[in-house]
Amino acid sequence: IRPLAQADPEVEQAIAQELIRQQSTLEMIASENFAPAAVMQAQGSVLTNKYAEGYPGKRYYGGCEHVDVIEQLAIDRVKALFGAEAANVQPHSGAQANAAAMFALLEPGDTIMGLDLAHGGHLTHGMRINFSGKLYNVIPYHVSESDLRVDMAEVEALALEHRPKLIVAGWSAYSRHLDFAEFRRIADLVGAYLMVDMAHFAGLVAAGLHPNPVPYADVVTTTTHKTLGGPRGGVILSKEQYARKINSAVFPGQQGGPLEHVIAAKAVAFKMAAEPEFQERQARVLEGAKLLAERLLKDDVAAAGISVVNGGTDVHLVLVDLRHSELDGQQAEDTLHRIGITVNRNAVPFDPRPPMVSSGLRIGTPALAARGFGAKEFAEVADIIATALIASASTGTNSSGTLGDEVAVELRGRVTALAEQFPLYPHLSQAGSG
Ligand code: PLP
Repeated sequence: IRPLAQADPEVEQAIAQELIRQQSTLEMIASENFAPAAVMQAQGSVLTNKYAEGYPGKRYYGGCEHVDVIEQLAIDRVKALFGAEAANVQPHSGAQANAAAMFALLEPGDTIMGLDLAHGGHLTHGMRINFSGKLYNVIPYHVSESDLRVDMAEVEALALEHRPKLIVAGWSAYSRHLDFAEFRRIADLVGAYLMVDMAHFAGLVAAGLHPNPVPYADVVTTTTHKTLGGPRGGVILSKEQYARKINSAVFPGQQGGPLEHVIAAKAVAFKMAAEPEFQERQARVLEGAKLLAERLLKDDVAAAGISVVNGGTDVHLVLVDLRHSELDGQQAEDTLHRIGITVNRNAVPFDPRPPMVSSGLRIGTPALAARGFGAKEFAEVADIIATALIASASTGTNSSGTLGDEVAVELRGRVTALAEQFPLYPHLSQAGSG
């Protein structure tokens, strides 16, 4: 058995470089996190070798006695974590969880409602060229122009007009809580299913720091790799009455063999998410986002035309509003990249710029909280970001990444100091440092 470095030095090198990138920069993409070593150990295990079509106790392959134990642990733990009646832990991703949930409850051509992609929804909530937009008749709802919060009056009016069979509540870029009780009331008014996609905020829910949609929704989908901090994958939670339909929509409806190595890693992540350390970490996630929003709402930032969508945040991310700044989303992303902070540009509601440029940044705190950041470090990161954006906005806009060299070097130094203070995966580094 040859180690990776011998069998494939090119891939081994690229992985080593990626480790260094993760260690030496500050990861603030809101949908990313750092999986614990135990999760990665389960994911990189012999379970990758095993076929296990079917479900625990009802497989189409022999030799499933151990993967049955593992998948049942994952199911039981995620049900307990969120208080759900039923769980399917096999979806390979969040998109596949959503596809299977819709496949279980709908027929092609049925009407669904979801938050418009341009207002913070996800591709799978009805984007035109996504499966959801192609298979179903999509009526998007929006945030209101006055406060940029989901316009529940519009949701109700559209539901009464179009009588959807399913309403999706959930988002990829939104910084406030949704009103699940109100979504339930509207769904009941028109006899629609309510599906909540909690992919982004599931970790906060698990920690008891965000309202839990499970009591309100017929189906709740999630990814396991965002705030939840587990392996890359998806899960579907539901009321017991939909469990059979959902299981059959996942397998054989959408997928073949489940990824039991990922399911094992999910089981580990669910166990860890029920522990006090996880709750403490999620509290730091929220604190970090609040500190970032506060810093970006200060006068010096406002003077550069930069603001925060919704005027703050209840969750793990901040949406920076560049609609009134000379700096666009692409330039802002490039600026932060240059000093070692990774974020993504994002359209904001009523964005005057095209989506590839955009007038927003989505900045999240889960990965840095996983690294150990607390209030002091988040305040420092917030100040670095504010300083970079102000400097970049005020140096003119004709070229991208317009930060002056001197400022860039100083800010990169502050980023490096933080990264070195909180070593990431030291056991994976040959020299033990990043
Ligand atoms: N649902 C929401 C709300 C998301 O934000 C995402 C990913 O960004 C997904 C689903 C899809 O997850 P995946 O990338 O695992 O398919």
